[in-house]
Amino acid sequence: MMGITVKKLFFTGMLMISGLSVSAQNNAKFRVVLDAGHGGNDFGATYHGFVEKNNALNVALKVGQLLDKDAGTQVIYTRKTDVFIPLDERADIANKSKADIFVSIHCNANKNTAASGSETYVMGVTRNAANLEVARKENEVVTLEKDYKVKYDGYDPNSPESVIGMTVIQEEYLDQSIELAAGIQEEFDNNVGRKNRGVKQAGFLVLRKIYMPRILIEMGFVSNKEEGAFLSSEEGQNKIAEGIAKAILDYKKEYFVPGTEEYVAPEPKKVDTPKVITPKAVNVKGIVYKIQISASSKKLELRPNNFNGLDSISVEEGSINKYFYGNTNDYDESKKDLERAKAKGYTSAFIVAYKNGKKISVKEALR
Ligand SMILES: [Zn+2]
Repeated sequence: MMGITVKKLFFTGMLMISGLSVSAQNNAKFRVVLDAGHGGNDFGATYHGFVEKNNALNVALKVGQLLDKDAGTQVIYTRKTDVFIPLDERADIANKSKADIFVSIHCNANKNTAASGSETYVMGVTRNAANLEVARKENEVVTLEKDYKVKYDGYDPNSPESVIGMTVIQEEYLDQSIELAAGIQEEFDNNVGRKNRGVKQAGFLVLRKIYMPRILIEMGFVSNKEEGAFLSSEEGQNKIAEGIAKAILDYKKEYFVPGTEEYVAPEPKKVDTPKVITPKAVNVKGIVYKIQISASSKKLELRPNNFNGLDSISVEEGSINKYFYGNTNDYDESKKDLERAKAKGYTSAFIVAYKNGKKISVKEALR
């Protein structure tokens, strides 16, 4: 059914596409929707203290700043702050703005922490297990929404293929999407210094109802210590943003013909006031277990954003501040807390024990 097989997509550098139509819009300026993945309670992938939603937002804002320098380009953001936006709402923002392209920005993650490199997705069918797994992870967020089965037409989070089954795929924008994706990958390869994993296809809920050329960029792996550090650094984010902005402007040069329609973008949603977490009432009596997650001379506000999304944080202040997650009298419960902390990137976290507020060894506490 699809004109382009997945195998071909891996070699888009050589793929010749002819007869591309120019943008269907009549926009006076080239409109670009920048979609920073995740946000708010949805942290995306978190590994080694690297948080996908932060990297995605930082890069999206930097790309936007670079595009703003081009007088013929108009940027529309789905979010400019750390706020949760459902996937369907992101599509709405894009469609209402009648933009020329939609660019979703994400970080990849894999249990195999050696995996590295950048890949860019276009909407489509795949049987490739790795592609399906990437789509499954990016789609998982809808399960945070109450009526996701209804809103997303029966989407089954355990079956990423179900995205495809439920919508007619519009091939109308596929060629242009691939062109844009290939340009992005070329930049990652030549100028950003990332391993080029190619242009790929899979079913992404955020892309499925958007009526314009649309891509989803996996900038690199936060699960890879080295690449995660690059993705989370100012320097790395600047480099990536330059690459993405250049590919977008190259695409514009090739395909955009200015029209007459002006557009005033609505202000994106404001940030939820960050909640300051007051630690649960500390039960100082008897044995208490907590998870020490980090120690730092820096004083951090006790809110989830500063701790990879963990709440119930407490601190022992000193010249070195020690930060703890959880608070329970039950050792088995604390083991679960430890797993949660590790899953959020605190891989060297450990259990500590207190008796009547005084620190004791875990061994002693268990006696
Ligand atoms: Zn993501």
